Amino acid sequence: MTINFSSIRAVVLDMDGVLWSGSEILPGVPEFFAFLTRQNIPFALATNNSTKTVDTYVEKLNSIGVPARPQDVITSAIATADYISRHYPPGTPVYVIGREGIRQALAERGYPEDPDHAQLVVVGLDFAVTYEKLKTATLRVRGGADFIGTNGDLTFPTPEGLIPGNGSLLAAIQAATDTLPVIIGKPEKAMFETALLRMGTAPEHTLMIGDRMQTDITGAQRAGLRAALVLTGTTTAEQAESSEIPPDGIFESLAAIHAAWEKQIGVSQ
Ligand SMILES: [Mg+2]
Repeated sequence: MTINFSSIRAVVLDMDGVLWSGSEILPGVPEFFAFLTRQNIPFALATNNSTKTVDTYVEKLNSIGVPARPQDVITSAIATADYISRHYPPGTPVYVIGREGIRQALAERGYPEDPDHAQLVVVGLDFAVTYEKLKTATLRVRGGADFIGTNGDLTFPTPEGLIPGNGSLLAAIQAATDTLPVIIGKPEKAMFETALLRMGTAPEHTLMIGDRMQTDITGAQRAGLRAALVLTGTTTAEQAESSEIPPDGIFESLAAIHAAWEKQIGVSQ
């Protein structure tokens, strides 16, 4: 189980559990990005969270020493809007359940919100979801609108514990409509395809770094990327090793990946 770092030309990173854990910034973050910059290796930050805007992430990333530009951040909201612009003409009316992240991404690409005439129902995590919103989404899907979910995570981690994630909202609408949503976020392919397209690299030369087996690692491997698991998030080494398809590499942290990479390619520190 090793990663041939010299074949890696680009990196996709999950954020929560890789760069930070709750409010704690994990060690070695600016150093790793400085290394990527020195090596001319482009990177993308990919998160299933559709609630926040790209600018919010860029601000946070820059404040912890990650030189990210807006085009380097791919939220499931952005990947969903990209997917929609590949498949539906601008002007197609949408009904959105979700927060600022997905609403802004769709508005920027020219998809107006029109609950009464929506041809597309787009669902992202919404902390203010109501019966009325689920009802409108159900009626539009039953009326023939396509049904798209930003991500399928059933739960959302908070300091209080796990709370309903977007997958739970999708499940409610799915139950009421007997219709499966198209899902965009990790582990689905669309999210990884957006990242590869932006960086212009082939999957086999691209490394995904994440902390969740079911989304980051399985999704990356399915899309043909190399996958490194870090143990600073939700997965233990035992869980990773006993999974059906283990990651290509398991590392204590991002700092440990950095050290292994420099050692393998012979960079003296
Ligand atoms: Mg994570």
